[in-house]
Amino acid sequence: MSDALSISECPYGICIWKFGWYRGLFVPCRVISVRDFLMHTDEQGRTLSCLMTHEFIIYRKDMVVTMKEKLEKIKAEAIRQINMSDALDKLNDVRVNFLGKKGELTAVLKSMKEVAPEDRPKVGQLVNEAREEIERVLEEAKAGMEKKLREAKMKAEVIDVTLPAQKNSVGHRHPNTIALEEVERIFIGMGYEVVEGPEIEKDYYNFEALNIPADHPAKDEQDTFYINGDILLRTQTSGVQVHEMEKGRLPIRMIAPGRVFRADEVDATHSPSFHQIEGLVIDKNITFADLKGTLAEFAKELFGEGTKVKFRPHHFPFTEPSAEMDVSCFKCGGSGCRFCKGEGWIEILGCGMVHPKVLKMCHIDPEEYTGFAFGVGLERIALLKYEIDDMRLLYENDIRFLKQF
Ligand SMILES: [Zn+2]
Repeated sequence: MSDALSISECPYGICIWKFGWYRGLFVPCRVISVRDFLMHTDEQGRTLSCLMTHEFIIYRKDMVVTMKEKLEKIKAEAIRQINMSDALDKLNDVRVNFLGKKGELTAVLKSMKEVAPEDRPKVGQLVNEAREEIERVLEEAKAGMEKKLREAKMKAEVIDVTLPAQKNSVGHRHPNTIALEEVERIFIGMGYEVVEGPEIEKDYYNFEALNIPADHPAKDEQDTFYINGDILLRTQTSGVQVHEMEKGRLPIRMIAPGRVFRADEVDATHSPSFHQIEGLVIDKNITFADLKGTLAEFAKELFGEGTKVKFRPHHFPFTEPSAEMDVSCFKCGGSGCRFCKGEGWIEILGCGMVHPKVLKMCHIDPEEYTGFAFGVGLERIALLKYEIDDMRLLYENDIRFLKQF
């Protein structure tokens, strides 16, 4: 810069520096210190000289061109990186690297102080144009990438709208349930109460209170599921009757439907778990005639108006006298058919007058009160009513079978 000392203008014509007495207000970009004499002519024509240190402020005239080239390079690099990006987070990296606070465009703006003031708007505009261009390409790439992602997702979750809709399958009442509701309806209509009890029962309620002492053969026959010596899975719902009698609220008119358990092998007519409906009536002056009348009415309601009943003597420990009731075959009306095995009658339930010993054990005076009880297998009714010949069908839960009822 030694040449510059003899002249007052930039010797290269690219700077706008001046020197002399003038100390301008330019923002310095490159400061050159010069120590020398300077000769000046002031306005009055006097020659002045001084030894001084000048600080020159040099703006490069070519800064606009340089900046433009630099911006073009940044822009090209940004677009190159954008085009190479294959994921949204990579695009975001490009955005941060070029447009962010510490990005390359911001760095260009920071070097603005090197640009002559009159050129700054031009450079500012160039920077803005570059920023807008990069942003536009970024947005396009992002939109394209999002679209691709969406399409890939849609492809992955293909929905064939031509497939038939999946129908909601509506539940269906089990034949056992239908039969139970029918029996309950009949007895509720006759003023009976429906009572339920525990499936896990004490030996006392299942056997002893029903006049089946420990050494009674019935206890062996039934081959019970014992939980321990005293607690078992009930073999009959009769225990519910004992619970009701013990409450001491008389008279009683109840039916006790529920699941019972016996150690039977599974076959067409046996299952280790099945259902019973037991009935109990205790009141003053209850006789066998009440039993017959009630059960005859029940049979008519269940199997049809023309149904006849027949009682055969039988033995149950908890009733005396005891009987089994048959109904006239509702298929052939009693003349005999394949359904009733030619007999004209179908065995339907066991019944009898409550044994005085049972009443006594439940603290009911057998001299004052009498009663009758009956028990019917729920499955037996369902099988008869729907002419199902294999009990196992009721437990297999085959929808195709169950849907028929
Ligand atoms: Zn018949």
